[in-house]
Amino acid sequence: MPTFKRFDLLTIFPNIFDSYLDESIMKRAQAKKLVRFYVHNIRDFAFDKHKIVDDTPYGGGPGMVMKVEPIACALRAVPRKKSSRVILLSARGKIFTQKKAQTLSKYHQLILICGHYEGVDERVVKFVDEEISIGHYVLTGGELPALIILDAVTRLIPGVLGKNESTQDESFSEEGFLEYPQYTRPAVWENLKVPKVLLSGDHKKIATWRAAKRKRIVG
Ligand code: SAM
Repeated sequence: MPTFKRFDLLTIFPNIFDSYLDESIMKRAQAKKLVRFYVHNIRDFAFDKHKIVDDTPYGGGPGMVMKVEPIACALRAVPRKKSSRVILLSARGKIFTQKKAQTLSKYHQLILICGHYEGVDERVVKFVDEEISIGHYVLTGGELPALIILDAVTRLIPGVLGKNESTQDESFSEEGFLEYPQYTRPAVWENLKVPKVLLSGDHKKIATWRAAKRKRIVG
């Protein structure tokens, strides 16, 4: 049985994902067969010959709203794994955190719906498990938020990161804490010095220094 995690991205701008998914850790994770990314063009599920996916808002107002039918049909066409979660990217959603990334990493499949224009017809919410926001600001579309969630979740999948990369001591790996400061060669650059303790080779002292330098998140 394949054990890969499946990500399905529903969008009207499928090309946005190409370069990010084909670089660095995302590329490696696919090569290791730990994840598979499927990008679906919502426009392919529009009913009319012009492939229209948006319309004016009921009640008036500026901009366009993404129609419910193409999104619902695109969603229905996605093959489902046993444990899957459907997420609508929305500025009105619950804020994404590292803890949420850990929870989502347990599912075998994440289906991410990217809105655009003024957002999506509210009836889409009936077809999703949750709405997630990546922060208190408004972006042009859900594609960047989807990539952020996909990235944060993918790096938590066992085997995705190499031996020298770890999620263990990272910021937020322990709730309320940020990582200690990191340095690399050279030891001195334009009068900027690496703290002596890190050059000492004394692992106990280094561990104590690092523990002291970890930042506690306030508020
Ligand atoms: N009119 C909407 C509002 O005021 O909340 C904003 C729509 S935004 C221009 C278009 C799409 O971008 C949204 O449907 C959503 O998918 C995505 N988006 C924008 N900001 C987001 C955020 N902070 N988190 C997640 N998705 C976001």
